Amino acid sequence: MKPLNALLSATGTNIFTTMSVLAARYDAINLGQGFPDTEGPADVLRAAADALLDGRNQYAPMTGVPELRRAVAATNARFYGLQVNPDTEVVVTSGATEALAASLMALIDRGDEVVLFEPLYDTYLPVLRMLGAVPKLVRLQPPKWELPHAELAAAFGPKTKAILFNTPMNPTGKVFTTAELACIADLLVRHDAYAVCDEVYEHITFDGWQHIPLMTLPGMRERCLRIGSAGKTFSLTGWKVGYITACPALATLAARAHQNIIFATPPNLQRAVAFGLAKDDSYFQELAAGMAARRDRLAEGLRRIGFGVMPVQGCYFVTADFSPLGFSGDDMAFCRHITEHARVAAIPVTAFYEGEAPPDHYARFAFCKRPEVLDGALERLATHFATAHATPRADRARSAQAATL
Ligand code: PMP
Ligand code: GLN
Repeated sequence: MKPLNALLSATGTNIFTTMSVLAARYDAINLGQGFPDTEGPADVLRAAADALLDGRNQYAPMTGVPELRRAVAATNARFYGLQVNPDTEVVVTSGATEALAASLMALIDRGDEVVLFEPLYDTYLPVLRMLGAVPKLVRLQPPKWELPHAELAAAFGPKTKAILFNTPMNPTGKVFTTAELACIADLLVRHDAYAVCDEVYEHITFDGWQHIPLMTLPGMRERCLRIGSAGKTFSLTGWKVGYITACPALATLAARAHQNIIFATPPNLQRAVAFGLAKDDSYFQELAAGMAARRDRLAEGLRRIGFGVMPVQGCYFVTADFSPLGFSGDDMAFCRHITEHARVAAIPVTAFYEGEAPPDHYARFAFCKRPEVLDGALERLATHFATAHATPRADRARSAQAATL
């Protein structure tokens, strides 16, 4: 029989699913895939339940129910001072994942170049490749993950159509500064290019770090597609409700893409998200404060065990250097090893790289979990490494290699 699509045939199961399956197999505490282990706000759940029973269960309008489009416009004004027309500048999607794909479809023609930062989120490159785009990767370096200005400028050229980036950034926890965003904005204007801004963790920033949408910078209003996710903002990742904010020309094309992938997102969930976005500022402050406390709990615990823990300014994840523990395998071996032997799952950070020789001694741990779950994971890791320290290095490396899927 004829071969199926070459790109998808060459695409494996993603690392989040891989590690979650492994975590289930070993009954491990899953600090791998980034999802909260508590339900989102009770009033938002109630709004969704009510919205199932009041007779609006047929197709929603293609770009989203008016309530949610208005709510997305209102939060853009409330948090960022952006004036957004809910009828022409908002597209509701089935999660940020779809929003990303639709935004890229709106921009890319075969052969267009797209600039991205490594480490990068797993769906970016496969979608770009399906569209025939040519990725130009610029690597950020730990521990500060600062923007390498010269390399970034060198990645832009006459064929650059867009930059695609994520702030607050998964997995690094970096929040882009105004100066870094201004550098990106300058390049976009000089090269007449667009930006797809993955801002799903916009409300999860810590220690006074503020999320700044690139769209708020001078000259950027017409060049950016700004993407949010109710999954992150309401700790309801299973809902898969996302939203794009963009000028009418960009929003129209993203909507055309959405029309052909999903057409319309479930109306009940949309209406509940509209209710959620109207919550007062204290909800958003408590979301960030709650996550900051969890970050501190996990980061301090990992530090006590001996990990080199990197600073985290936003999002759900702590990235930790495991080399001080004396483990001699790479990050995949380490994550398999702790899943099997300490029964705690994490994500190897090389999964977020495609280029040559990525740093391979970091593991990403999700802290969007209940405090007792974080404590349980830390206890398991502490016990394991206390015992493992008594084991000769070579044995530890062998046992890491033996931990295969
Ligand atoms: N972008 C990033 C950086 C993410 O971490 C995630 C989700 N986990 C997404 C996009 C996808 O969001 P959603 O679940 O709304 O599709
Ligand atoms: N975004 C989540 C993470 O980074 C995972 C999403 C998924 O499993 N596709 O952990």
